[in-house]
Amino acid sequence: MTQPALSDLLKASPLHLGPYEDLYKYFHAHPELSRQEKSTSEKLAAHLAGLGVSEIHSEIGGYGLAGVIRNGEGNTVLLRADMDALPVKELTGLPYASSITMSDAEGNEKPVMHACGHDMHITCLLAAAETLIKVQDAWCGTLIILFQPDEERGGGAQAMVDDGLYSKIPVPDFVLGQHVVRMKAGSIGSRPGAIMAACDSMKITVFGRGGHGSQPHQTVDPVLLAAHIVVRLQSVVSREINPNDLAVLTVGSLHAGQAENIISDRAEIGVDFRSVKLEVREQIIAGIKRIVEAECAASGSPKPPVFTPTRRFPPTVNDNDAASLVAATFATHFEDFDGDTPRTNIAEDFSTLATCRGIPSCFWLLGGIDHGIWDKAQAESRTEEVPGNHSALFAPVIQPTMRVGVDALCLAALTFLKK
Ligand SMILES: [Zn+2]
Ligand SMILES: [Zn+2]
Repeated sequence: MTQPALSDLLKASPLHLGPYEDLYKYFHAHPELSRQEKSTSEKLAAHLAGLGVSEIHSEIGGYGLAGVIRNGEGNTVLLRADMDALPVKELTGLPYASSITMSDAEGNEKPVMHACGHDMHITCLLAAAETLIKVQDAWCGTLIILFQPDEERGGGAQAMVDDGLYSKIPVPDFVLGQHVVRMKAGSIGSRPGAIMAACDSMKITVFGRGGHGSQPHQTVDPVLLAAHIVVRLQSVVSREINPNDLAVLTVGSLHAGQAENIISDRAEIGVDFRSVKLEVREQIIAGIKRIVEAECAASGSPKPPVFTPTRRFPPTVNDNDAASLVAATFATHFEDFDGDTPRTNIAEDFSTLATCRGIPSCFWLLGGIDHGIWDKAQAESRTEEVPGNHSALFAPVIQPTMRVGVDALCLAALTFLKK
């Protein structure tokens, strides 16, 4: 079968997406926080069973789920969607907006919203599973439909792998996935090589000696110490990293003290940084440690600083050959496909499902922004003001986003499963 025939195959028997639009609205209105995706996972499993998928593995690494569809000899392809939501109070005003609250890991009641579009990912994957089952005569091999929990906190893919994912399901030859982002709905983009950055976060606690605000000479002031560190950290990327390499460092939080007239005994600094190359990541970590330790010494800090890593996402690097094959298929089907889409500094743990076994993978980005909103913003050169992922106002338009997301999953899978 030639590549244009894959596109013809989908066009010849398009799946009616009406029921999936309703399902999307249901998922959007019923989001669940990371590591608490119980109802979502159960609903996904029930839907897969309803499609006739008989081999379903549930509760892998938390609420992870995988359905296996065996269809003769051939490649094994894994399609992945993430399913968790965020502690965000939804402000979209959509008729199917979430009003859900849940208790987070620390026991605090939080509003919950699908502010990253994972509800779109899971709905597209169910519809793709139905489509691929419908055209089963046109392909052979094994298809794995995988729903991953806990993407937002960066632990879900690793948790599934650590829980023996690849002893429960066949090891795939290709791992494929997608993310809805702030691009015009209907557009789709991918690229060979790095498509998303690696992300690390850490908390740094530095120590002073507390005391009365009127007698600073008897104290070691952690506020002044932390202020020096925050300023000095700005030089890691600008003065130490090769400008040809991607690197971003943000001090996202800074906490010290309780009152105006008390010098506190510690400060806590929250740092997030992005990179693609492993050696750049290590350079950034070394730079942070050197600066923090030196500033603590300069201030006469009574105790060494404590570095606590809080999140780590690997870079998402598309296999050149797999990405080229997928791009060739996408180019025959989508009017608005960019095979050289800009790399994004957003991070994902998708690639853990592939790199843990050296499996080639490919990831692509789906546009989700309403045409009218996008075109107006573009005409006014302010597309960066359109609410994107993690915004309380992020509201992917259901179509054509869903149709493109379903077709992309089907076409990418068929690229490696075609007869
Ligand atoms: Zn997210
Ligand atoms: Zn996401």
